[in-house]
Amino acid sequence: MSAIQFFQWLTQALYVLISLVAVSTAVRRPTRVHLDIALFFGVITLIIAQGWVFKAFDIPIDRATTILTSSLLMALPYMLLRLVNDFTTVPARILRTAEVGLILCVLSIVVFSPILPLWLTLFLVCYFFVVNAYVAFAFLWAAQRASGVTHRRMQAVAFGSGFFGVSILLLGLGSVEPEGIRSLFSLIQQLTSLASGLSYFIGFAPPALLRRAWQEPELRAFLARAARLPRLPDTASIVRELERGAVEALGAPSASIGLWDEACGTLIYSSPNGPVAYGPGIMIGGRAFTTQEAVFSTNAIHDDPEYAQLYRSRGAVAILAAPITAGEKRLGVLSVFAPRAPIFAEEDLRLVQLLADQGAVILESRALIDEAARVRAREEATRLKDDFLSAAAHDLKTPLTALIASAQLLERRALRRPEAPPDLVTIRRIVGESIRLRGIVVELLDAAQTEQGQLLGRREPTDLAAIAREVAARHTSERHQIVVEGTEPLVGNYDAPRIMQLLDNLVENAVKYSPAGGDVTLRLWVAAEMAHLTVTDHGIGIPPADLPRLFDRFHRAGNVNDRNFAGMGLGLYICRGIVEEHGGRLTVSSNLGAGSTFEITLPHETRGDTAKDKGVVDERVDQQQRR
Ligand code: ADP
Repeated sequence: MSAIQFFQWLTQALYVLISLVAVSTAVRRPTRVHLDIALFFGVITLIIAQGWVFKAFDIPIDRATTILTSSLLMALPYMLLRLVNDFTTVPARILRTAEVGLILCVLSIVVFSPILPLWLTLFLVCYFFVVNAYVAFAFLWAAQRASGVTHRRMQAVAFGSGFFGVSILLLGLGSVEPEGIRSLFSLIQQLTSLASGLSYFIGFAPPALLRRAWQEPELRAFLARAARLPRLPDTASIVRELERGAVEALGAPSASIGLWDEACGTLIYSSPNGPVAYGPGIMIGGRAFTTQEAVFSTNAIHDDPEYAQLYRSRGAVAILAAPITAGEKRLGVLSVFAPRAPIFAEEDLRLVQLLADQGAVILESRALIDEAARVRAREEATRLKDDFLSAAAHDLKTPLTALIASAQLLERRALRRPEAPPDLVTIRRIVGESIRLRGIVVELLDAAQTEQGQLLGRREPTDLAAIAREVAARHTSERHQIVVEGTEPLVGNYDAPRIMQLLDNLVENAVKYSPAGGDVTLRLWVAAEMAHLTVTDHGIGIPPADLPRLFDRFHRAGNVNDRNFAGMGLGLYICRGIVEEHGGRLTVSSNLGAGSTFEITLPHETRGDTAKDKGVVDERVDQQQRR
């Protein structure tokens, strides 16, 4: 057996084998695409079998046989074109042109058989080659737009068509090429036709093993990402990643996950226009959810006509759907869509189920993480409540003790010497401690209101500069000079008493935490439509480690304690609440041992800046000051 004969035999055997696989698939699942594949390879096998039979029994090839085999051969490119149409779209005019070409080919074969003139042979070869080249190009184009396994399959078919066209071109040229290189032509022709057979085989009917090998890289990449998916910021991001993983692993254009909402009894899908809810048994995905079985539909519109419009709008012809279930707990459903039926194969059902199971593990881990966070938050809330109670009790106890002691002293004196003049010192101490007590109670109440975000009352045009001046005057002492820089009115819509409280608190802190004295500066300015106000001192400063938590409830820096600086650690928490409820920001910068700067940034509305408004504002501020 010569090399050419060997390759010829191998190619023919391969085509017969593919035909058997294709026909058995078409019998099992008689879809249009399976029938088209079976027809294409069946025709090739018919031509091969006819050759074998005629050779084996030495039957002379008559005119009718020549017409039949030549016509069948010429029909192959058209059949391939139909296959392209099964996988992607072929414009109708190209299909029609190919049909006209095929009719012309068959007619001329009928007219001129058994001996075809050279020009006709060349025309037939050209027709064959051009249609095949188009098929190769169309599959390559579709491969470019597909991913994963679909990308590879389309590439294989494109190569198959390219080789097939070249092989027929060489076969046609065999009748005109010089005698000397005929055997070389023949060998190349056999090799290209073997290559086309192989490419078609792996493209049209990839064995499960090869399919899995193609899917593996995407699957591996997905599994590698899977471990960190439960830590994504929210469930929506996890769902998006799971959908992406399914799309890549299956080489499909889109996928969607419906999450089961126990309370509403619906599956919630995300869409560009927001979440959409469907009942559990609705659509192919819903069926997979209710039956808890993976479903493969090669024609969703046919299988579920009620939702045809929806499938059409999603470009979903074939659908693979698998329930996402963790043990007994139904979490949702994963559906993967393809615009053409042959993109998916029966075995892909297992892969979709695998991805859905992986999704269940990820979503379940996420639910556990969320639950753990909720438990932690509850514990934290309880701890804060405890902290709050003990801090409140502790801070209330000191002035109360002093108050009781002073009152008891007055009582004893009054009993012993009723005629004695009133003990003014003790009475003043009682008043002082009562005021302190009220201050603590107010601070505790404010902290509770801050927690609920309900600190602010009515907002009205308020001059920050005027308030700053008033606060400065109140806190200035011999040890501490409070300087205000920028005395231009700075009017905005604020809750004036709360702004006063805010500045009072910051300046009070600046003074309290500057035991050695020193200037405290208040600076005001406007930039980028925001009012800025800083309070700078040259006091003890704040350790860098405390800065991130300085505005937390009850947080006191490491360089202060109850013995040297009394306080509850609620003032800054309330200050931040006041600023943030105004839509602003409160920040701090500090150098330990050198001082601190607190910066308030508030939205600044220029509405109140007119002279008339200023008049009103000044009057209001005056009223506030008088109060
Ligand atoms: P309190 O002063 O009652 O402790 P605050 O909430 O007003 O509570 O302040 C929280 C903590 O921030 C203080 O305990 C102190 O450690 C630190 N702090 C606040 N202002 C200053 C400042 N101007 N200089 C240094 N430390 C400060």
